[in-house]
Amino acid sequence: MNLSEGTTGSNLDLFGASPDASQEYWKVAVPAGMLQALTYSVPLSIARDERFRRGQGVIVPLGKRKLQGVLLDRTERDEKIKTKDIIAIDEDRPCLPEPFVQWLEWLARYYVWPIGHVAEMSFPLLDKAKNARQKERKSKHAPIAPELELTRPPELTAEQAKVIGDIQASSGFNAHLVHGVTGSGKTEIYMRLLEKVVQNGQQGIVLVPEISLTPQLIERFTRRLGNAVAVIHSHLTPRERTNQWWAMIEGKKQVLIGARSALFCPLPNLGMIVIDEEHESSFKQDEKLKYNARDAAVMLAKFSKCPVVLGSATPSLETWHNAKSGRYKYHELKLRVADRSMPTIEVIDLREERDVRKQTGENDLPFWMSQTLFTAVKETLEKNQQSALFLNRRGVAQAVVCPACGYVPECPNCAVKLTLHGKSHLLCHYCDYHESMKERCTQCPDGEPKPIGLGTEMIENDLVRLFPQARVARMDRDEIASREDLERMIKDVENREVDILVGTQMIAKGLDFPGLTLVGMVMADVAFNLPDFRASERSFQLLTQVSGRSGRHLDEGAGRVIIQTYNPEHPSIQFTCAHDFEGFAKFELSFREMLGYPPFWRLASFRIQGLDFEKVTSTAKRLRTRAQALQARSPNFASIEILGPAQAPLAKLRNNHRWQLLVKGPDPAALVAFCRHLSENQDWVPAAVKVVVDIDAVHML
Ligand code: ADP
Ligand code: ZN
Repeated sequence: MNLSEGTTGSNLDLFGASPDASQEYWKVAVPAGMLQALTYSVPLSIARDERFRRGQGVIVPLGKRKLQGVLLDRTERDEKIKTKDIIAIDEDRPCLPEPFVQWLEWLARYYVWPIGHVAEMSFPLLDKAKNARQKERKSKHAPIAPELELTRPPELTAEQAKVIGDIQASSGFNAHLVHGVTGSGKTEIYMRLLEKVVQNGQQGIVLVPEISLTPQLIERFTRRLGNAVAVIHSHLTPRERTNQWWAMIEGKKQVLIGARSALFCPLPNLGMIVIDEEHESSFKQDEKLKYNARDAAVMLAKFSKCPVVLGSATPSLETWHNAKSGRYKYHELKLRVADRSMPTIEVIDLREERDVRKQTGENDLPFWMSQTLFTAVKETLEKNQQSALFLNRRGVAQAVVCPACGYVPECPNCAVKLTLHGKSHLLCHYCDYHESMKERCTQCPDGEPKPIGLGTEMIENDLVRLFPQARVARMDRDEIASREDLERMIKDVENREVDILVGTQMIAKGLDFPGLTLVGMVMADVAFNLPDFRASERSFQLLTQVSGRSGRHLDEGAGRVIIQTYNPEHPSIQFTCAHDFEGFAKFELSFREMLGYPPFWRLASFRIQGLDFEKVTSTAKRLRTRAQALQARSPNFASIEILGPAQAPLAKLRNNHRWQLLVKGPDPAALVAFCRHLSENQDWVPAAVKVVVDIDAVHML
């Protein structure tokens, strides 16, 4: 027996194994701020548990805390660090499906964000046991997905039938762009596709912008798909969210409708993702994990080997470019349903209007309202139809100014002018700082501050005066503080209790009001004058979407749209009037290509911010030096362009000074790697300064 002992001994030496040769080491995604996963050792009892595999939740120690993490891969022991044991399998969390785990890893890598924090987004706030223990409370809002009588689907239009047939003809992963004019029946297409997904025993996700997630929309889906529908949005209580989440995980519901975070529900059997209004910039999350839900959805579908459907009347140029280059399949709907016409669009040149008034001396209309718009509102009222007037600016006046010395009150915390609300309330739209307007200027002896510019509140006031018999309502962030407010307002408009609706872009977002036949853009210029390379695109989208609210249900004649502007020749207006998306896209893309902007090149922005201006400035400059040094070290990064640093357009926000450094390049992988390198080691950044990277940045202010 000496021999066998000797053999065993030499084997041990050969493989260099220690007495704990059977010890396993695993990477765990732990929500604690490190970019990488941590390595833990696994006690045998846990390693042998049949639930122990990639994607399973586990409880691990970190310092003195116990945290919930997600198991990733088996790994080698790292001699340099003393590993701790995994404490237990997490009984509260289901195992995440493999494609979903791959997707989480992609998100963490691509958006340069800690894998543990990314994984954490996949779980509801309350754990299962705690949720079950909590007493059922009566919810204060309407049922989440109400039980309603099912309605018979309409006969599909030829265009709808073709799109559905074409999408269903392909299997596995495919990205589809459904480009359909406003009112062409895209939602009907989504519902038919999802019906099929459910029939096949699979599940689907429908992402819509938070603001479109109205009872109106949910009702449309529940009237067709019945109790297969679950809904997740940010206004649910943690308990409601948790219940909806489990209903999907346990397969009690099949179709999840939600804002961008619904994507993080780890469905066991994902068969399709739909993203409505895919062009919406609200799909991009601004803080923490700066993901774009549209792009992330395409990746999730890819890992899950299922189709993803992106729908819009005004696709983002990124998606349009993908469709034109053949990466996405393109489907078009050129006509509104039931032979309804597209609205007619008139452009009013406010400069001419101003000159005419000067000459004739006629002055009874407010400066923002042209004679044409006034007459149109009057006629619409007489026909008992509804009008909506739109301006992308809240308040009574954009600012107040002292005519004697030119002083304009600004927010002490942000580099923005204070907006006038009501009679004398000066408000910062970024941090909610407010003060009351003084009758006398604080900076000079004899000035009396006067309001300048325009806001929705002033429009409302003027309308009440001009049309005393009309019922006027305002829909903006001042009036609509909560989801309940929004729902009530929508009901009022639907029930014809409102004749004229005044609003900011809120009313542009997908609402479908049968009685609405006149849309007025009070001053279209507000959108395209922003310092952002996407300003033109946004402006075109906004104008087209707002126009699309008009006359959606008119079986005779067409809805009317009146665009007032000081720049009638601006391309975003010209192409909107011609209902020419393709022309606009071509025009705009030629600039983007020339300047090396998305969708041709990728762009990322580093934001450098902090309370101390000097420190922020010097950190921004050092970041540039580091970026240049990094570029010099690797030929991989040769094609990357470094722009700035420069102060952000909003140079100060809530007392934080803000700088940005932009980097862009033709090779996405190289750009992301570059940003990763630059972000990884932040030992050089002063404690009071934050440097964060935003890959595929959307919000540039
Ligand atoms: P989109 O999302 O393309 O703007 P919607 O899906 O909201 O358009 O459809 C506009 C209106 O037309 C809705 O009231 C919808 O119920 C109706 N509709 C959709 N498809 C049909 C159809 N095939 N026949 C009749 N009405 C339809
Ligand atoms: Zn402020």
